[in-house]
Amino acid sequence: MPYTEDRSAWFEGQGLWQHIPASDWRDWTWQLKNRITSVAQLEQFMTLTADEKAGCDFAGQKLSLAITPYFFNLIDRHDPNCPIRKQVIPRSGEMQLSTGEELDSLGEDGHSPVPGLVHRYPDRVLFLVTDRCAAYCRYCTRSRLVSNAQDYNFHPEYEQALRYIEDHPEVRDVLLSGGDPLLLSDKKLEHLISRLRAIKHVEFIRIGSRIPVFLPQRITPALCEIFEQYGPIWMSIHVNHPKECTAELKDACERLAFAGVPLGNQSVLLAGVNDDADVMAALVHRLLRMRVRPYYLYQMDLITGGAHFKVDVRKGIEIIRALRGHTTGYAVPQYVIDAPGGGGKVPVNPEYVEKITDDEVVFRNYEGERFVYPLKSVPVVAPAAPVEKIPAR
Ligand SMILES: *Cc1c(COP(=O)(O)O)cnc(C)c1O
Repeated sequence: MPYTEDRSAWFEGQGLWQHIPASDWRDWTWQLKNRITSVAQLEQFMTLTADEKAGCDFAGQKLSLAITPYFFNLIDRHDPNCPIRKQVIPRSGEMQLSTGEELDSLGEDGHSPVPGLVHRYPDRVLFLVTDRCAAYCRYCTRSRLVSNAQDYNFHPEYEQALRYIEDHPEVRDVLLSGGDPLLLSDKKLEHLISRLRAIKHVEFIRIGSRIPVFLPQRITPALCEIFEQYGPIWMSIHVNHPKECTAELKDACERLAFAGVPLGNQSVLLAGVNDDADVMAALVHRLLRMRVRPYYLYQMDLITGGAHFKVDVRKGIEIIRALRGHTTGYAVPQYVIDAPGGGGKVPVNPEYVEKITDDEVVFRNYEGERFVYPLKSVPVVAPAAPVEKIPAR
């Protein structure tokens, strides 16, 4: 069944916070200061299920609860199955440890030459610049360290990390992540980015951030100016459901795009949130309208207490099959599993090729029709006779 919206095309507005001056609402520091961070605050606005209450009580030991007022407005408070609600309100499943789950499921700590830097792939590094986010995703890959609920004691050593990158000429790509890099002040970000730009062999800087989604107010003209000045800088945002594509997010993406920041999106396949081909189709179409190219669709990492979000990989493949060919190629993300223990991202694709021999490739198209592409080139007619030369006069 096609996904239909229950809101106007691009939801915007102050929702529950009508009484707040618009100047406060649009101020990202106001949004941060007024985050919902406790059960008591949540219960002022909505009735929690018993399952959510249990999850909230446990959150302090696992991953803090925090939701910006802006993002809270996107929750349907009367629907316990709201796909936005599930992403940010803890549930009792978080307390359940299941097989294969680990605190550091991607083995990042073992691939860290200096604190806060992960060097897993030959030519690029992941630079974790903070352990804080504007709001916390309940399925966070780095819940071991973000929000400091687990006493991880995260202390990024910027100078040490910068020196490592300077000393490693093979590093041509630096990915700033965390936590959310855009929570740093403009001044700190500018310092980091300008230092990276000054390293001759660093060709490519990118930022992974969910701030445009949780706190679009942070994408100020001043911030965009920094990106413009030190670009090219690429950005991956993190949108999981079409309801997150609001007028505010669209405006933030446009400010970034007009500052020359190419935008990609990384979604995580989540049970009850976006494990549906029609929901995913609506999401990727909205992303393209916001100038965002769907980049990755992640199979969820095996973090502790994440099993209630887990989706069968066959479902993920079915979703990709439902997109490829049926809609714009730009709209189709690459589905990947980040190999447990630190093997890196591995693509998982629907199978289109039936057989490859020395003679031919046999495959099916998106509609299931079978085709053959010959690999051996055999002449089918005698070569053309040489053209008679016309003697020069
Ligand atoms: C995901 C990731 C990257 C970036 O991978 P791309 O496929 O280039 O986007 C780099 N380093 C680490 C450790 C990662 O997890």
